Amino acid sequence: MTLVMKFGGSSLANASCMRQAASLVEAALPRAPLVVLSAMGKTTNALFEAAACAERGDLDAALEILARLRAHHEETSQELRVSVPELADDFQELELLLRGVALLRELSPRSLDAIASFGERLSTRIFAAFTGAEWLDARTILRTDARFGEAQPDAAAIQQLAQAHLRPRLGAGRAVVTQGYIGATGDGLTTTLGRGGSDYSAALLGAALDADEVQIWTDVEGVLSADPRVVPGALPIPELGFAEAAELAAFGAKVLHPATIQPAVDANIPVTVRHTARPEGRYTTISAEVTTGRAVTALASRGPVTILTVSSTRMLAQSGFLARLFEVFGRHGVSVDLVATAEVSVSLTVEADAPMEALRRELSAFATVAVSEERAILAVVGERLKRTPGICARIFNALRDINVEMISMGANEINLSLLVRREEADEAMRRLHHALIEGGGGA
Ligand code: ADP
Ligand code: ASP
Ligand code: MG
Repeated sequence: MTLVMKFGGSSLANASCMRQAASLVEAALPRAPLVVLSAMGKTTNALFEAAACAERGDLDAALEILARLRAHHEETSQELRVSVPELADDFQELELLLRGVALLRELSPRSLDAIASFGERLSTRIFAAFTGAEWLDARTILRTDARFGEAQPDAAAIQQLAQAHLRPRLGAGRAVVTQGYIGATGDGLTTTLGRGGSDYSAALLGAALDADEVQIWTDVEGVLSADPRVVPGALPIPELGFAEAAELAAFGAKVLHPATIQPAVDANIPVTVRHTARPEGRYTTISAEVTTGRAVTALASRGPVTILTVSSTRMLAQSGFLARLFEVFGRHGVSVDLVATAEVSVSLTVEADAPMEALRRELSAFATVAVSEERAILAVVGERLKRTPGICARIFNALRDINVEMISMGANEINLSLLVRREEADEAMRRLHHALIEGGGGA
């Protein structure tokens, strides 16, 4: 029996948050918890900023950020009345790295990962000292490839390492604390799983240990029917199927990192999303078994994205056009989200930071290309979406004067995506929420 408890940055922002998280761990001790932590508050952002300053050669600015971070971590440990000697060593190493970057004015993804890894290393040091839990370096377990910045985990190696080196340390009555987000290659180079990756770490470790639950502790009462910052009346969702959760995550529900779900699905482990400050409150259980039968469960949005409309110059949708088209995107490593095809043209959306000039140049060899930026994808997710008559009428009625530029029904039938102008996305969300969810059609 093992419980994985992951606490996000906002749940660890200061001493009183840490106390609250620690009390939840204490209460869970009989379940042999593995505690996976994010960096405190916005520490990772600050580390990225310091690295960028150093790369520009502005060492003073980088060191100033470092001093602020150090003060905050030291104040937190003082408030918790623990001494954490490792903090000094960590900050010293971090300073060396930043000085190196500033000297060379060069920041490789590999150096950035080394710098970014300190957020989680520091938070776990303080938490372990405060709770008396054993501190474990996640890099000894979480094996990844060398794609720095978005390293891919090696599930088989992680399982083997976790069984050999982590399993024996877990037991009822004690906790082990480790870092989310970070890992290491086979030859020991520090990597990260990408921003927001601590959820992913928790699911990977949960799967490797065959945990009976993975708890994601955050600052909302579970997964809500929309982003509460956009839709203040978003409703809690007590139960969510894996497929629905994966769609929501992929389409921007920040509460879960997009890849989080998969390792837990594969291992059939339920994931719960809970509010750290309100542990007695409502929460969401995500599990494979849940079939809610809801028409619309939740909405999510992602942006900015760019829409490309590519028209064949040969005037005929000759066979091979689509293959040639997607080959270009594939070769540039650009993933395409929505696709809509017409007789001689294809519209597709890509992330705003896609290498647009290179794509345009190559596509121009056999097609004309029109590009519109500053768009957002809205995703309407629900298990019975496809089988509920009248949903589209309600969607278009709610959006009325908001222009929908593309529409796509996910092949898995539980996701209907719409493309709108970015500046209209929030209003569109509120209207859809009102029409599809508050109106009783959904959650
Ligand atoms: P953590 O620091 O705990 O990882 P995140 O900030 O990554 O937390 O994710 C939690 C935030 O996700 C919430 O505060 C909320 O603003 C946002 N969010 C976006 N969509 C949703 C949703 N559908 N349900 C709940 N929260 C959402
Ligand atoms: N600290 C990392 C980030 O801010 C990972 C995480 O919090 O999930 O992206
Ligand atoms: Mg997060």
